[in-house]
Amino acid sequence: MSEIRIVFAGSEGRMGRALLPGLHAAEGVAVVGEADVGDDLAQMIADTRAEVVVDFTTPAAAMPNARTVLAAGAHGVIGTTGFSAADLDALEAEAEAAGCGLLIAPNFSLGMILLQRFSEEAARHFPRVEIIETHHEGKLDAPSGTALRTAERLAAAGAESGPASNDIARGEDVSGVRVHSRRLPGIQAQQDVLFASESETLTLSHHALSRSCYLAGVLAAVRGIRGRRGLLRGLEPILFGDDETR
Ligand code: NAP
Repeated sequence: MSEIRIVFAGSEGRMGRALLPGLHAAEGVAVVGEADVGDDLAQMIADTRAEVVVDFTTPAAAMPNARTVLAAGAHGVIGTTGFSAADLDALEAEAEAAGCGLLIAPNFSLGMILLQRFSEEAARHFPRVEIIETHHEGKLDAPSGTALRTAERLAAAGAESGPASNDIARGEDVSGVRVHSRRLPGIQAQQDVLFASESETLTLSHHALSRSCYLAGVLAAVRGIRGRRGLLRGLEPILFGDDETR
């Protein structure tokens, strides 16, 4: 089978520098273009005949990039966070219309994807829950896209709102789940989901020790997106063969 030709957008960023060596070394994948600020992504896709564009850029760049990818008839694997619900709904319609696949996942690490599944199960027994996420100081969005997605899934699984409070120190209310964001040096990405009842607590905790933890998930997405049409919200449909997160 021929190699999957990919362009990487955001090549000079932290994620780009961390992922590109592994993508260059991966079997069945050829990195045919690397784009960063100032490059013409549409021209690069056309010149390289790329089938898939992997995007780890900025919240401001990712939406126009996704439209460029669809206009070029390519598929997209997007790790950039910061999309609004309205953005996702718009891209779902545009990907359907273009006949291309877009996979947008706020987190490509297997550990985090499992934490989210385990969290849904726990929420059925411990509906009172809060999320604490910690990231490096260079992260542009807060709460993290992963925390937003986790909160939405917890809410759908039956998480209950705590006592009403407008105090900013109580965190952001995301679908009824409190999310606390911390930004500190020396930490890459960490998320704790803290469940409690009157008599016990349960904490599910994930630490990303290095950015290479995202590589396997990105490769699975690149390999799985061809032949898809429309928007996949998360890696789960490809990893587990289900569509539960759509
Ligand atoms: P970063 O270091 O700021 O890198 C982003 C790169 O994209 C920078 O080099 C930036 O250039 C470049 N860029 C900006 N606009 C562009 C455009 N139009 N076309 C091409 N490149 C452009 O950020 P990062 O730490 O690598 O993170 C990137 C994104 O991935 C963030 O949204 C982050 O939250 C997300 N992320 C996702 C996962 C996941 O698993 N899904 C994991 C980690 C991080 P300038 O610096 O010149 O603007």
